[in-house]
Parts: sequence; structure tokens; C-alpha cells
Amino acid sequence: MARPLTATIDLNAILQNYRYAKKLQPTCKAFAVVKSNAYGHGAIEVSRHLDNEVDAFAVAAIEEALALRDAGIVSPIMLLEGVFEAEEWQLCEKHGFWAAIENDRQLGWLLESQAKIEKVFVKLDSGMHRLGAEPNVAEHLVTTLKEGGQVGEVLLMTHFACADDLSDITTLEQLAYFERVRQAIGNIEVSVANSAALMKWAIPESGWIRPGIMLYGISPFAGINGRDLGLLPAMTLSSKVISVRPLKKGDKVGYGLSYEATEDHQLATVAVGYGDGYPRHAENNTPVEIDGLTGGLAGRVSMDMIMVRCLDAAIELEIGQEVLLWGGNVPVESVADCSGTIGYELVTRMTARPHYRYH
Ligand code: PLP
Repeated sequence: MARPLTATIDLNAILQNYRYAKKLQPTCKAFAVVKSNAYGHGAIEVSRHLDNEVDAFAVAAIEEALALRDAGIVSPIMLLEGVFEAEEWQLCEKHGFWAAIENDRQLGWLLESQAKIEKVFVKLDSGMHRLGAEPNVAEHLVTTLKEGGQVGEVLLMTHFACADDLSDITTLEQLAYFERVRQAIGNIEVSVANSAALMKWAIPESGWIRPGIMLYGISPFAGINGRDLGLLPAMTLSSKVISVRPLKKGDKVGYGLSYEATEDHQLATVAVGYGDGYPRHAENNTPVEIDGLTGGLAGRVSMDMIMVRCLDAAIELEIGQEVLLWGGNVPVESVADCSGTIGYELVTRMTARPHYRYH
């Protein structure tokens, strides 16, 4: 017997979504962004499944890249956050990692290390003000790297702050800014697009795209689900009913007794909680399916359990019934909406506790 909570990951869906991303911009090369444990889907399993097909993987930092190499991944791997210490450049050379670079410190370490790196992406801050160099620093980084002869190809990259908001012209402003700097630098390949930019904005037709969330079948846009965008959701989180009780009108449920029954009904207790990654801030009536029927969360999410009300009064609740927490007819985006967050966070915050099944 085992606790019945399972995260089922459809690896083929991720592969199909990667192919779909490439079709949107067929003249570009595409990273598969697998940082943060492939957004909670299992970086090693996902990368093994995609290794023969991707142009390269992208992770945040060197620990993630080393874990993939240890697992036998052979494709190039890009460090989106760049290096944090001088020694990392030697490891980049040894393992065929590429990296973003944004400042003179990182440049100095690279020059001193004499490491040979296949591709380095100079990151320009085009308005997000998180990482990235000012135009004059970016130009200086590009020129020095090109002259230095250690780097096979120097590219220019940036990241968008608001590409998920189609009514916000910041993305157009960032694109125009980026283009001006690119032209001043001259002949250089580029990388700008995350999933939202790739799907909805006019991005450069050459260089490298960097889809992340869309690979997992999840939408970056508020109010639109992955399926509506032609994506295949990859994670299904399911569990079972482990206890059932009748509630009388007026009975209250869970920590803080934050749910009150407005009529007599049955209540199911389900094995999943915030200790598994289910969001503690999910509000009453967050969608949950029991045996294919619509249900709603009742009361506060505990560490190991939630309580659910089935909205179909005709059904008899029973221990052992299948419960769908997200995936299928319960989009993770809807659960996120009811929890004051985004699909990205829900999948990425999955813990090691559920059973993970890959197919
Ligand atoms: N590029 C960079 C630099 C990122 O930080 C990320 C993710 O945050 C991505 C690409 C992928 O973005 P998304 O998951 O929205 O496609």
C-alpha cells in the first residue's frame, strides 16, 4: 500500500510542445528550458526524453547543468543566469556548457581562465532591470569576447518583462531598444523570446528562442489555458478519497473552520496537501474532480490532506474514488487562478513526496 498521490508526467506531450514551439519560428534554433527541475516535471527524465531532438537545453545555473551531464545528457546546455564564480568557466569548457554574461567580473574570470567556450550570450538589459548590461557595457563585452578568441560565437540576448500581457506595449519598446543596440554592434546572432513572446509577439526570425512554460503545456497568459493555445498539458496530479463523512448544514471544515456547509452534503478527504505542492492558498471551491464529476475544495489546505465537496448531489462518495487535482478537465491554470498565483508556480513547487510516473 502506498499513499495514493501521483504526479503523472506525459513526456511525449513535452516533446510535442517542443516541436510546436519550433514550428512557430522554424528559422530559429530552440532551447528547451528545463531549469528548476523542468518546472517541477523532472529535469533528468524530461531531458533524457528530449536529448536526441533539442538544439540545446537551458537551465538557470551550473549545478543544474552538471546534474544533467551526470545523468548522461549530451546536448549543449546553456546557463541562463550565467556564472557566479571564476571556477565555473573551466567546468563550462569541460562539459560543453554555454553561458549568459552581463558584467566585467564574469568577463575577467573568463579571460583569466582561458577556457574555450562554444557560445556566450551577452545579456542586454532592455528594460526589465533584473539582469543584463547597459548598451555600452554590452558592446564592450561583445567586442572583447570576439577579439579574445576563446569563444566560438558571441550572441546578444535579452529577456522581456511583460510579454505575457498582450495589452502592454513594453514588449514592443524592449524589442525596438534591443534592435537599436544590435544594429550598433553589427553582425551578431540574437536570443530574445520566452514562450509568451514566441507565441504572440513579432520576434526576430533568426537566432535562438527560449520556450519554457509552453513545453509543459501551460499558458503564460492570464485567462487562457495551455489547451486553448494548442499545447498539451504534461502533468496530471491525481489522488484518491481516503475518508468520507456527511456534513449537516452549518457544519464547518478544516483548520480555522473556514468552510461552512450551506446545506447537508457529503465531504471527501483526499490525500494531497501543501507538503506535496498543492497550494495552501487555494480558496473554497477551487476545482477538483471526483470520479470525473465536478467538485470543489472545502476548507483550508492542510500539509497532507484537503477536503472536497462533490457538487453532484446524486453521487455517493466512497473511499478509493479517483480524484483529479489538475490535468485533464482541471487546468492547472484554473487551480492557480483560485490560489492567487500562476501555473508556473504550482508545477515548479511540486515536492519530492508524490509518486512520479513517466510515460
Ligand atoms: N529565458 C529566460 C532568461 C528565463 O528566465 C526564462 C524563464 O523564466 C525563460 C527564458 C523561459 O520563459 P517561459 O517559461 O516564460 O517560456
